Amino acid sequence: MTPLSLGATIGILGDGQLGRMLSQAASRLGFKVMSFGPDKQSPAAQVSMASKIAAYSDEGALAKFAEGCDVITFEFENVPAQSLDFLTARGAVVAPSSRALRITQDRVLEKTFAREVGVPTVDFFPVDDLAALAEAYGRSPTPHALLKTRREGYDGKGQAWIRAADGVAAAYDTVGGKPAILEARADFVKEISVVAARGWDGQVKTFPIGENHHVHGVLSTTLAPAPVPEALQARARDIARRVLEGLDYVGVLAVELFVLPGDELLLNEIAPRVHNSGHWTQDGCLCDQFEQHIRAVAGWPLGDTDARCTVEMTNLLGPDILDWPRLAAEPRSRLYVYGKDDPRPGRKMGHINRIRD
Ligand code: AMP
Repeated sequence: MTPLSLGATIGILGDGQLGRMLSQAASRLGFKVMSFGPDKQSPAAQVSMASKIAAYSDEGALAKFAEGCDVITFEFENVPAQSLDFLTARGAVVAPSSRALRITQDRVLEKTFAREVGVPTVDFFPVDDLAALAEAYGRSPTPHALLKTRREGYDGKGQAWIRAADGVAAAYDTVGGKPAILEARADFVKEISVVAARGWDGQVKTFPIGENHHVHGVLSTTLAPAPVPEALQARARDIARRVLEGLDYVGVLAVELFVLPGDELLLNEIAPRVHNSGHWTQDGCLCDQFEQHIRAVAGWPLGDTDARCTVEMTNLLGPDILDWPRLAAEPRSRLYVYGKDDPRPGRKMGHINRIRD
């Protein structure tokens, strides 16, 4: 595609902190941003030139939004793929594509796709009802298995562990009796992620690998570049490339991987957007993941992804943010605040990037 001219307008579906940081990166390159989402005063709306407050399925609002945008992207994987189809059918330039979104919105399609492009995953079983779950649990190679909703679960939501056959019904209740996926437990020694970008011209660039720690299924910290062997890094980068190419993807995505003993890698999840485990790049790289995504969708050259230093990113959840006077005074660190009012427990309110030796 012809690179967007200076001052062009980028539309972002989704109005959370990722949209906010995309908007800030876009404005640094001289673009204007229109955000689209359901909330007034959202983190993204606070920093965008204009914002459309509407439901993601509101076709009238989408059509108006499209008129004002030179390219449209998204920061939230639960935007309906039909909304992207609607925009594309009206002639809007949309990246990533609705195909990439559809595949990555559904854990069964996602893992099936991963295997098709030669990327290993945990053993998994699609589950449509309780009888299918009982049967799938009987076939799971590990007695510990994790039931997840096929769609719309993230940060450990919509998930339940099963440890024995008598726990099957309770687990199915916990995920709300929705279409689900049963996954064998990965006995990982580490969780890592690769954040990578692909341009319209097929160019791929990968950020250094991050090592992630989760607490109750939610990302707590990322340390990057992760202290992992070069051969493992090369394989992780190759996985990201296969995913990007297989999805014919334009933009930034993240691939979350389990590292098993012996450095075997299994794909856990693909996030079709900038990702929490890539926030470290804001202080670790000359071009961070947000700018990289904007560059990719705008048809600009991709930026430099080399690490300038080691960074530890820590999420500030709920009341953690109230400690801001102390955090703001910390040397060798940078504080990011998302502009949300209510610090309810578990809510992502901000993060801090600390430079490590
Ligand atoms: P997810 O929402 O799929 O990213 O899962 C959240 C977290 O739950 C992951 O980062 C892992 O720590 C853990 N987890 C998810 N799936 C599995 C699995 N199949 N085996 C072991 N742990 C898992």
